[in-house]
Amino acid sequence: MKIDILGCSGGIGQGLKTTTFLVDDSLLVDAGTGIELLTMDRMLAIRDVVITHAHIDHIIGLPLMLATIYDQHKEPIHIYALPDVIEALEQHIFNWTIWPDYTCLPEGRPIIHLHTVNVGDSLTLQNKTIQVLPAEHPTPTVGYLVSDGTSSFAFSGDSGLNDGLWPILNQSKPDLLIIDVSFTDEVDELARLSGHLTPSHLKQQLGLLTHPARIMITHLKPGFEDTIMQQCRQLLPEWQIDRLHHNDILHLNE
Ligand SMILES: [Zn+2]
Ligand SMILES: [Zn+2]
Repeated sequence: MKIDILGCSGGIGQGLKTTTFLVDDSLLVDAGTGIELLTMDRMLAIRDVVITHAHIDHIIGLPLMLATIYDQHKEPIHIYALPDVIEALEQHIFNWTIWPDYTCLPEGRPIIHLHTVNVGDSLTLQNKTIQVLPAEHPTPTVGYLVSDGTSSFAFSGDSGLNDGLWPILNQSKPDLLIIDVSFTDEVDELARLSGHLTPSHLKQQLGLLTHPARIMITHLKPGFEDTIMQQCRQLLPEWQIDRLHHNDILHLNE
């Protein structure tokens, strides 16, 4: 399985894009500002989009991409998210004020089909199984576990302390865990309030993981990336922990 990391930052700025992962060129996991790294042809190749939550850093690329490919798309794009997230997209984005309602355009053969999913669901999309994972965030949020039968990765979504996740990962044993550690240990309270992890929280959480997955850190706050990574490595020397960068291309078991 190939994962193009188009965006993985907690903010924007030169060289920084928000959460956008493209799996095997056709499955998109979140649609942040990383979308802008794609050519027209690569946008047209996207068949399915799974969205973790409605926060704008995870969806802003979607309406812009649809407008860009509108004239050229041939197949509808299927979008999967929690019911609250689908409702938020309908009410607050595709509402004719912020953006056209692409759920009914072009008339008769709309460019997007919206589908609801719930925690615990298992979807089959293309040649992959996608399991919907629990997450803890101030707005309804999930993570995803993507498997193609020979390799798999889990993405925490944006999430704070999330004890429900670890029994699932202990059972499914993903090769890679991409996990949100947005903040340094110095702002513990802010991390808790905003539903993200600190390095110390990560240490606590990895104490619940019995499977030696590779760990990659995402959603780091701009300006604090080095401190977050230093704290993670200091607290967790026994784990292989790396920072995710946009433009990374990860190959799992190929
Ligand atoms: Zn969020
Ligand atoms: Zn976010």
